[in-house]
Amino acid sequence: MSHDFPSKLKTFCENTRGTLGEPELLLRDHSLVGFYHLFGELGRWNASVRCLSQSSPGNLKIALGIISSGFRAHHPLKLCEECTRAQETELGFSYWVLQHQLPGVLTCPTHTRPLVEMQTKANGLARFQWSLPEARKSGVLLRSYEGARTEAAAEFSRFVSTAHHCFAGKPIQHSLLVLSFRDALRERMMLSDGGRLRMQAITQEYRTALDGFEHIQELSPLVPAQSALSTQLAKLFGNLDGHVHPLRYLAIAFWLFRGATPFELAIKAARYQGAKEEAASAPQVFEDRNTLLDSRVSKALEQGQSIRAIADSIGIDTATAMSVAARLSYVVKRRPKKLVHLLRERIVALLLEGHLVSEVAKLANVSSSTVAKLLSSTVGLAQDYKAAREQRLKDEYRTRWLDVVRSQLALSKKLLRTLDPAAFTWLYRHDRTWLHESMVHVVKAQPIRPYRIDWQARDDALHNCLQRAVAANLRGQPDRAYRMCDLYALVPDLRAKLAELQRLPRTAKLMEFLVTRPKHSREVISRKLAPILL
Ligand SMILES: [Zn+2]
Repeated sequence: MSHDFPSKLKTFCENTRGTLGEPELLLRDHSLVGFYHLFGELGRWNASVRCLSQSSPGNLKIALGIISSGFRAHHPLKLCEECTRAQETELGFSYWVLQHQLPGVLTCPTHTRPLVEMQTKANGLARFQWSLPEARKSGVLLRSYEGARTEAAAEFSRFVSTAHHCFAGKPIQHSLLVLSFRDALRERMMLSDGGRLRMQAITQEYRTALDGFEHIQELSPLVPAQSALSTQLAKLFGNLDGHVHPLRYLAIAFWLFRGATPFELAIKAARYQGAKEEAASAPQVFEDRNTLLDSRVSKALEQGQSIRAIADSIGIDTATAMSVAARLSYVVKRRPKKLVHLLRERIVALLLEGHLVSEVAKLANVSSSTVAKLLSSTVGLAQDYKAAREQRLKDEYRTRWLDVVRSQLALSKKLLRTLDPAAFTWLYRHDRTWLHESMVHVVKAQPIRPYRIDWQARDDALHNCLQRAVAANLRGQPDRAYRMCDLYALVPDLRAKLAELQRLPRTAKLMEFLVTRPKHSREVISRKLAPILL
């Protein structure tokens, strides 16, 4: 059973008779699959659960964009030595902790201590066997994340771990994520009135929040060089179709919200706002609810209940119950007329201009409920109002959209729509032909060029890593030459870099040196590595 993306869980559950939980629970609480589904559609998570219940991950890692993400795609097992000690004292054995395994978590969220990376399962050997952290005693420690001993890295580890706890198994839709990000940016005055991103300020603050990440190998893809960062962030603030490594979104959320709780609240607010926009552009959602309400009210009226009693039993106010009854053409006693004729005319006129009920109330100096009552109890008015409202919305959204298009001719369609998602969505649903025509001059989406890789730095890092690993490994080893698979075991990153070896000359030379010395290897190597051993 693979520890990061376990598979065939249905069989596993049958064999364990479900005592360890159902596949979905196992994937959420005991694997990294939940982490890679923190953002996106719920359907995608359900599909992955189905896939891993029945069969193997197949190309799931590719489908989730992990392979091409710029972050490492293997997940070495990590542990906190303090946690392990505590478990051993308490239970007599130690176990792997899920929050330590999450990508981006490099220090223990409980002890703020750099985690250590173990060799267990790091290479292909014994990949499917059970193993516990006690193996560390036999000295197979790969490396410690000492570099992550900064305040920002520790806080980020805590943030990732708590966010995972909040959202695993309940993915956040991309649209909500983008909405919450944009709201936070607006609060920080990083969005212009036209909704344009103020990239300079954004990249500057983002970089400050993630201070020092560029020196930590696992986190460095989050903070590339200036121009690449700007492109990357602009893309993330608009990306709606997934295939983005969760750490990239988490890094932005970490900067904008600092804590997982404010992040959660912002998502809730976005969900509420999104629902409101949805309601404004899709009245049919409420029509269903109305049908349900109608049937309940009509049933109660037939049983001879009073309006008051019906309202109380359903949990709506009396006025609503009355208007439902009116819609169903039941004769109900009306309250004394509050509206004089002229005022009534004025309200109707304002409604037919397509103003919102609350605006009409303000303009006519009456309460919203008075307007709403008039609207629901006058025959035919509701339909006319709906049409007028639609026309007004159309005009409003067209104007807003044209502002966006005219001010941002250089942006792609994909990015354009994120500048005013509400207008875009509404027009897409109700006025699509016009929307397409408005964008004939807009440039086609340009694929974002991957940021330039600093091969020399990568080469140096890998070379030093290998050198250190070999030096540490040399002590107490029998005298024999290294095989390639020994080198992978010491530095798992090497395997992924094989195809790029011609760009990593120092590393390549060292590898060559290590594997092509059949005799006296230990002496020769010791001499070469002498400065490090000292
Ligand atoms: Zn710990």
